[in-house]
Amino acid sequence: LTDRLSGILDRLTRRGALTEADVAEAMREVRRALLEADVALDVARTFIDRVKERAVGVDVVKSVTPGQMVVKIVHDELVAMLGADAQTISLAAAAPVPILMVGLQGSGKTTSTAKIAYRFTNRDRRKVLMASLDTRRPAAMEQLATLGTQTGVATLPIVPGQSAVQIARRAMEAGRLGGYDVVLLDTAGRTTLDEALMAEVAEVKRAVDPHEVLLVADALTGQDAVVTARAFDEALGVTGIVLTRLDGDGRGGAALSMRAVTGKPIKLVGVGEKFDALDEFDPQRIANRILGMGDVVALVEKAAASIDAEQAQKAAERMRKGQFDLNDLKEQLGQMQKLGGMSGVMSLMPGVANLKKQLAGANLDESMFKRQAAIIDSMTKAERRNPDLLKASRKKRIAAGSGTKVEDVNKLLKMHRQMADMMKMMGKGAKSGRGPLAGL
Ligand code: GDP
Ligand code: MG
Repeated sequence: LTDRLSGILDRLTRRGALTEADVAEAMREVRRALLEADVALDVARTFIDRVKERAVGVDVVKSVTPGQMVVKIVHDELVAMLGADAQTISLAAAAPVPILMVGLQGSGKTTSTAKIAYRFTNRDRRKVLMASLDTRRPAAMEQLATLGTQTGVATLPIVPGQSAVQIARRAMEAGRLGGYDVVLLDTAGRTTLDEALMAEVAEVKRAVDPHEVLLVADALTGQDAVVTARAFDEALGVTGIVLTRLDGDGRGGAALSMRAVTGKPIKLVGVGEKFDALDEFDPQRIANRILGMGDVVALVEKAAASIDAEQAQKAAERMRKGQFDLNDLKEQLGQMQKLGGMSGVMSLMPGVANLKKQLAGANLDESMFKRQAAIIDSMTKAERRNPDLLKASRKKRIAAGSGTKVEDVNKLLKMHRQMADMMKMMGKGAKSGRGPLAGL
């Protein structure tokens, strides 16, 4: 795709904003790439519309071609649509936490159940019980029992003649009595959607009130996966998706379609037949895969780096003039989050090695960046430009608006003050030749 896009757009050597014509032509290629990756038609259409809306009029940054610029926008939008923040299975409920696995036959439910059980047991040190509700095929129960032996996870003893609901109730009871943390319920699946199956699973759902209903879907089924996802979600209220066979040749289009159609997060992906072949969902990787892999990654990163560098330069300029306000801080936080540490502007400033070390030790995790960004987002424009406006009542409003505490707002303001002071100092130092590095 990149090559094709470059062919079209790199002929345009002029600089300036992307025009409607540039974007329209590029989008034809993007559309083709999406369909080749097995993205559902209407999902592709929606996606293209969104990208168009975003791309027209965007300035082409120096040192990047219009083609690269478009690729970056497509890539970013793809990641956003896939769900930028990673989500995992939630166990935040009273033990034993029931998790219901649903999906078509052959989608990988039983395998995924064992993989998840294996992970909870060995990585998270949880006590897990697995139960097969597949009353239609006796072999299915045996299959889970065998997997249980292989993974060292307990399975509910098989009692012939019980219905799915009876087994589910028995599993929960065994879970309570045995002090289990999690009970994974593996259900039967038909090769196609059928009402009787849905009704049965819905009844199980009512009986055990699962904390998660995970839809297991085969990435290789492409378009069909979407129909399945919609039906399961309507009937059962899916809370998350496990996408299997991402180790296959499928190009990941199913991920985008599933996510777009159900709005439900993809929580895990299956990447093989072994117990540990289970990964967290990585939107970046899937986006690269859909776009046609290989050099797209490097290209986009290069483009992004130039954009960051340019923004950094501008911000550094403002800092030197002592104009570091909360808008600048937010941009910095975004950069830090992206780069996983102190970088960007700070590395352009002299004498920051110490501060870097301090910040690195200060436990800068993702959630903190997000919280801080949320705090700044809850401020008015005027407040961001002039933090001195922030008295108690305003702080309270901001804390409420961002779902944080006044204490968090104060911490952020303190951090801003420190950074601003330091920058002013360094700015002066640099001018008068008495900077932290002067004399070296
Ligand atoms: P179920 O009918 O939904 O319970 O499907 P199974 O769990 O029995 O899986 C059907 C087949 O798909 C088995 O042969 C699995 O080994 C295979 N399978 C499941 N997940 C994956 C995966 O992520 N990658 C690959 N390559 N095979 C998988
Ligand atoms: Mg099965």
